[in-house]
Formats: sequence, structure tokens, C-alpha cells
Amino acid sequence: MYGLLDNLTPELGFEIDLPFEIFATSFNLPEPAADEEEEEISAEGLAALLYTKEAECPVCRAKFNNTLVRESKLRLSHMDELRPVYRGFEPLCYGITMCTTCGYAAFKDRFDVISDRQRETLLQHLRINYANFMPASYPMELDEKMGIERFKYALLTAYIKKVSLGEKAMLLTKTAWLYKAMGDEVNTSLFSKYANDVWTQAYQSERFPIFGLSEATVHFLLARFAFDLGDHGTSLRFLSQIIVDQNLSTRMRDMARDLKEQINQTRTE
Ligand SMILES: [Zn+2]
Repeated sequence: MYGLLDNLTPELGFEIDLPFEIFATSFNLPEPAADEEEEEISAEGLAALLYTKEAECPVCRAKFNNTLVRESKLRLSHMDELRPVYRGFEPLCYGITMCTTCGYAAFKDRFDVISDRQRETLLQHLRINYANFMPASYPMELDEKMGIERFKYALLTAYIKKVSLGEKAMLLTKTAWLYKAMGDEVNTSLFSKYANDVWTQAYQSERFPIFGLSEATVHFLLARFAFDLGDHGTSLRFLSQIIVDQNLSTRMRDMARDLKEQINQTRTE
């Protein structure tokens, strides 16, 4: 199942301004701490959360079963800034719809949004590169590793499909979040860096809302990434724009204040 995108090279003709290595299978997982008990969901609980629905691929027209999440049944544990953390379950694993016949993948609500021209380009690339791009088959229940692989397929097809910068940035962000959920700090940092690059480009060239996100949300993301990259000045600049804006929700402004506090602590250490 893993490693299907490991052999992508520029010679295959993909126009992607990201290093090809990021598509390869890569995990740097910590040893689980002895006293750490992860909240597991029961088999019945999982069965109640998931259901399958037949879908048709808008690129190759193959039919397949897509696993979906009953979002109303999710139990929120807490918010990790903008990322919701649920009890015993990671819905991000199911964030991507993927055709296992041709390898086309996208956010589930963007899967069917495709022009004739995008379809033609995708067909051409996926056919030519089929040997290097053999799609996987997946079980109904997806784990984080599978979820990440599907995000990488979606990222690749996003570049072939030439979607907006905002959509690419969101794919990179959610891949970083999934790595974070697994405790993989190396890949969280790597994907956060690329997410930051693409959000910065989107911020300079696209109009709000960018891929559904408000200006304040994008400011917060850019502040968080800048902080993670050690650029405290940029981070504080974005945060102060949030903190002074009385029209924003208390939650958003508190989140910005908390991050500002973290930065100030780091500076005085
Ligand atoms: Zn297909």
C-alpha cells in the first residue's frame, strides 16, 4: 500500500514546484511512552461513525466505494488552535476522496469540481505515468498513514489539475496536521514549511475568503508557521492584526494572544 509515489521524478513531466521527495513514504514516529494510553474507539463506535457510498470518478468514470464520516457523531476533545481533535478518532484520515482506478484524488467536496480541460490533462498524465502512479486499494477503515498517502495523491493531482494556491496550501496544512496527530515532528515541520510558502503566495495573489478561510484565519496560520520557522517578527505582525480587530470572535483573538504569549516566553528563555 505504501511507497506508490516513492519513484516520482521530474522526468515524468509533472509540473510541480515542490521537491518530489515529499511525495515519498516517510514517517519518523516517536516510541510510544509507556504510560501513554491512547483513547481507542470500539469497533461498534467506529461502525457507527463510518459509512460507504458509491462514487463515480469524474476523470476515468470508474465507480468505487467511498468511505465517509458521520460528522454529527464525532466527539470533540479539544481544539489544537485551528485543528479540531476528536476523542479516539481522526476524521482527517477520510478527508480525501480517491479513485483507486486512476489515482485521481481531491478534498471530498472538490472531487467533482473539474473542468473538461482539467479532466483531459489528468487523464493524459495519469495514463502516461500509470506504471509509476499505480493507485492503491484501501480498506474501509483508514489509519493516519493511509490518510497521509491519500493527501499526497491529492497534492499531486492538485498540481496536475492546476487548482488554486489556497487549495494546495490547505492540502499541505492538513498533511502537516495528520503528521502532527501521529507525533511525527520531522514531517510536521517539513509540511508546515511548504504550507507556509504556498499560503504566503496565496495571500499575495488570491482574494478572501481563500479556499473558504477568512483573512484572520489565514493571518493566524501564517503567524503559527512563522513562529514554527523561528521568524518571530513576522509571527507577531500577523498576530497583532488579529488582536486589535474588535470585529473578530473572542476565540480567535484569545488564540492569537496565546500564541503571542508563547513567542514572548520563547524570547525570554
Ligand atoms: Zn478515476
